Amino acid sequence: MDKHSIRQSMRKLAVQVPPKFYMRLIGSDLVGVYYHVVSEVPIPHVNHLYDYKSPALFEQDLIYLQQHFNLIGYDALSEGLSNGTGLMRKSVILTFDDGFSECFSVVRPLLLEHKVPCTFFVTTDYVDNRGMSPDLILSLCIDSVLGLENDRQRVIINQINADYGTRLSSQMALADWIKSLIGNPKAAVSNLCNHLGVDVERYLHESRPYLTSEEIVQLSKDGFTIGAHARSHRRLNNLSDDEIEAEIMESCRAIGALTGKEDIPFAFPYNGDGVSRVLLENIRARHAHVGLLFNSRGFEEDQNFMVNRLCGDSPEGATPEESNLRQKINRSLLDEVSRKLRHAPKLQK
Ligand SMILES: [Zn+2]
Repeated sequence: MDKHSIRQSMRKLAVQVPPKFYMRLIGSDLVGVYYHVVSEVPIPHVNHLYDYKSPALFEQDLIYLQQHFNLIGYDALSEGLSNGTGLMRKSVILTFDDGFSECFSVVRPLLLEHKVPCTFFVTTDYVDNRGMSPDLILSLCIDSVLGLENDRQRVIINQINADYGTRLSSQMALADWIKSLIGNPKAAVSNLCNHLGVDVERYLHESRPYLTSEEIVQLSKDGFTIGAHARSHRRLNNLSDDEIEAEIMESCRAIGALTGKEDIPFAFPYNGDGVSRVLLENIRARHAHVGLLFNSRGFEEDQNFMVNRLCGDSPEGATPEESNLRQKINRSLLDEVSRKLRHAPKLQK
């Protein structure tokens, strides 16, 4: 057995250990989990961005969490962290990012049935389907490319090559090129829509991908927490300090106006990498309505106002009888254990 396969077998074994073992090792009492969407049917505006679970698999996740952890809501988390009273051992906070309509139609009934608290982070410019994140539009563009008839493919590829200076030669190459634009703030998305006949306004009107104000108010009345996920879905680390402050403060204010709440949590679009923690601390000090800030770095340690989370979306390895969350949580915990080991001061000989 070579070194690589020994390491792989060790990792396979390590994933089977109960998460509480690693949580104790790294001194963590909290698991943060985030999803984007749960659906039985394919969703064109998300299909080419990430995988997601069916309602049955998501329900397995809820059952697993209820059996092995203490599911807490945002208020309990905020209180435990700010009062210094700490959290119950093995606490879990469940969250959804982006504010998709399935949060209401698919996720809400399951959460109510299982009595699970949850926080929904909503991108405020897109509430009521007033607009759409460029990444989602790119997913629609890829869908359109994959549906092109043969004779149209050549024409459109030639147009795009002429317009963008690309040298694409096939339908798949075009789809891959569009995929490579996901997350790129400079992507000329509307021009691409014109070439591919993607009508965003019509899609927003007919498919209604985002939550409405009424649905958000109802989720809040149900006892769920509504947080902000910025005004538009831009990566904050590309913005100036003033713009970062406006994205956080104004999106939290818009949510507060909808729900009447005063402590509004915020989740970074993509992640909070490269955003100054001093700046964030100052923003929170200046704006009392900005609550805890949620990131997506698994179990990585950060400032006490930052809550890290791991992604629960992918159904890989899950079966209708068994959730894949234990593996996901353990993989994330193992990453943090190795990160801590790498950064630990060297022992004196
Ligand atoms: Zn997002």
